[in-house]
Amino acid sequence: VLSTMQDVPLLISRILAHGSTIHGTSQVITWTGEGEPQRRSFAEIGARAAQLAHALREDLGVRDDHRVATLAWNNAEHVEAYFAIPSMGAVLHTLNLRLPAEQLAWIVNHAADRVVIVNGSLLPLLAPLLPHLKSVEHIVVTGPGDRSALDGAGVPVHEYEELIAGKPDTYDWPELDERTAAAMCYTSGTTGDPKGVVYSHRSIYLHSMQVNMAESMGLTDQDTSLVVVPQFHVNAWGLPHATFMTGVNMLMPDRFLQPAPLAEMIAAERPTHAAAVPTIWQGLLAELTARPRDVSSLTQVTIGGSACPPSLMRAFDALGMRVCHAWGMTETSPLGTVARPPAHAIGTDEEFAYRVTQGRFPAGVEARLTGPGGERLPWDGESAGELEVRGAWIAGAYYNGPDTESLRPADKFSEDGWLKTGDVGTISPDGYLTLTDRAKDVIKSGGEWISSVELENALMSHPEVAEAAVVAVPDDKWGERPLATVVLREGSTADFASLRAFLADEGKIAKWQLPERWTIIESVPKTSVGKFDKKVLRRQYAAGDLD
Ligand code: ADP
Repeated sequence: VLSTMQDVPLLISRILAHGSTIHGTSQVITWTGEGEPQRRSFAEIGARAAQLAHALREDLGVRDDHRVATLAWNNAEHVEAYFAIPSMGAVLHTLNLRLPAEQLAWIVNHAADRVVIVNGSLLPLLAPLLPHLKSVEHIVVTGPGDRSALDGAGVPVHEYEELIAGKPDTYDWPELDERTAAAMCYTSGTTGDPKGVVYSHRSIYLHSMQVNMAESMGLTDQDTSLVVVPQFHVNAWGLPHATFMTGVNMLMPDRFLQPAPLAEMIAAERPTHAAAVPTIWQGLLAELTARPRDVSSLTQVTIGGSACPPSLMRAFDALGMRVCHAWGMTETSPLGTVARPPAHAIGTDEEFAYRVTQGRFPAGVEARLTGPGGERLPWDGESAGELEVRGAWIAGAYYNGPDTESLRPADKFSEDGWLKTGDVGTISPDGYLTLTDRAKDVIKSGGEWISSVELENALMSHPEVAEAAVVAVPDDKWGERPLATVVLREGSTADFASLRAFLADEGKIAKWQLPERWTIIESVPKTSVGKFDKKVLRRQYAAGDLD
């Protein structure tokens, strides 16, 4: 029997229509580095998104499922593109501006992007790529920045503001199938070529509702969210879409992502919420310690993308910024788990223990653990295996071109269609995930596993350690052993023996897991989205040689 309910497709145009009317006075505030930030209401964003869609269609010939790329920081124009492109039926492709040039070119060609919307400040990055881009027919430039890099670009270059000026500020958005492609994002390709994940209108709509639930971020129109996580990093974790559902103001840092301007914008614009990877917050913490600012407005900080060190969580708590840890990946839109402690733990000693887990699975994300032999493991908080997930906003395949069947590599998707995350961990009986490592980062020592994350967290709780990354290096006797690479705080006198003793102290780390190889480094290399880049360290120390 079919239901008697209306069948209204879950479309991004509906999120836009809602946000720009019901929450028309909410704002996107873009930091400009000097003077007043740029303020644009959701109503204006809605009108300008319609103008952009007209321009893309009528002037640049975008139609059907053409891919339109953005090479941009977090700012109001990027939000306009977020809504205009999918709403008109085309596909938004956010490009990760920190990727190496060859990878970027590969990705643009693979996605066959026709138009690139680029921030003026990023033209020096785009210009040298142009001769290698096969499908790009138009470039649209927004915001400040010297245009001369595009002289002789070989394709028409348009000014965003001129392009949209005078266009109608409403658009008759098509009634699409909710399962059609809305946006795409490539994983940064730690191994092999980058892989494209294509989100649907439906997946984004449902994911946005989950982001808005109190057990996830739970923000309302009384909030302002400082969206530090880039719009090219899994759709800024879904914030632009989610905020248009609930009227949350967005504070966008544009290219001002260094600790000092971040501290300034928090003090000036008083956001209540912020989201970013741990390395951003480590930097901010150092800045606030050196030069305290009034950050009292900021009471909720969502941290994910890599494990949040418990020491960072405590330091933020002490400043009144309550950290909420979350786990996800490009393939999961990204919201996969959120570490809200259960009611019975609030105010008890258990509360912190729950908060440092990766979190609990929300309705809509099913999980299971698979052991090395493919066996299902129990949720007993002890059995560690690879996490597999399934749900309406979880990828079931990778993009392989418009007319080709999608890719379902066996190491990423199970035969029955679950996503294999490559993350290893345990799940407690009440559904909290604790990741011990990425499968490829775990140190396999004499048939036992050593968690690199556990060693790093223990090291980073040392007052003189700024950052620490632990990688496996080959070892004749054990196969692999941990190498600790440590960044010391200024003026530190800690030596390896004392660090090792610190780890061994109070049984923090089991004796057989203690690293015997150590090296001091200036800073931990970071990936394009600001995570510790362990493959660089592994390559550097592949021979197990520290000199
Ligand atoms: P990349 O693979 O390039 O880092 P993603 O941003 O998709 O791209 O990364 C997803 C991965 O990041 C996850 O599979 C997991 O290993 C790691 N990750 C994300 N959030 C957390 C977290 N809270 N704790 C530990 N690891 C995390």
